[in-house]
Amino acid sequence: MKKSQIVCCFIVVSLLCENHFARAADPTHPDQPIVSPAEAISRLKEGNSRFTAGNLQHPHESIDERKYIAANSLENAGTISLGMTGEQAAKRRAEMAKSQHPFAIILSCSDSRVPPEIVFDEGLGDLFIVRVAGNVLNDEGLGSIEYGVDVLGARLIVVLGHQSCGAVDAAMKTVAAKGKAPGHIQSLVTALKPVVDSTPKGDLDTTIKANVKHVVDALRSSTPILKARVDSGDVLVIGGYYGLDTGAVTFLDKN
Ligand SMILES: [Zn+2]
Repeated sequence: MKKSQIVCCFIVVSLLCENHFARAADPTHPDQPIVSPAEAISRLKEGNSRFTAGNLQHPHESIDERKYIAANSLENAGTISLGMTGEQAAKRRAEMAKSQHPFAIILSCSDSRVPPEIVFDEGLGDLFIVRVAGNVLNDEGLGSIEYGVDVLGARLIVVLGHQSCGAVDAAMKTVAAKGKAPGHIQSLVTALKPVVDSTPKGDLDTTIKANVKHVVDALRSSTPILKARVDSGDVLVIGGYYGLDTGAVTFLDKN
């Protein structure tokens, strides 16, 4: 491919992306359901209650749901039987084809024992999730969260810490020893150090919750996108704590 052709392709792709962003960000977009922060919290609490009680519904994960998504990527979608009336299938297919509308954004730890979709019993298209060890906030994570709010329309952000967080524990021990973690793991220690330093008690659980609060505050004060939306009451940022023992998520103080 000639250089001029490559440049042309890049411009076309850029225009397509810009167009997609502009269209999805349009607040008047009629197919974008509005889920209030209060309703989103209720849905998360209900889902977590199902999880702790062992009454999982696995919403939006059925074989039909996956068929809808697969069908939308195929030119011959109309020939696939979905076990529904033609009208129902067409409606669901059209909904799936348009875009995603997650009702909440979760910033959580990478810990394999705390997968948000499972502990909140949610399914495909429900949650917009950023996962990183210690649920620290970096630029890419912040950009993803802003995308979830500004483009996808989610109005609740939950920073989810958890019991026995190994990342926070490792950061505490590394800072206490005035040491350095191997490789890029040190970047996590660096991100967590301000919270570790400001939590002199040295108690792991206290530091985990202080870290959640620290990230919640950082999101609430983040300019130019989140702060304005939080201050106007349009978006809510709250902290949560997942208990490994119980499976229960406790939502922390809203302040
Ligand atoms: Zn963790």
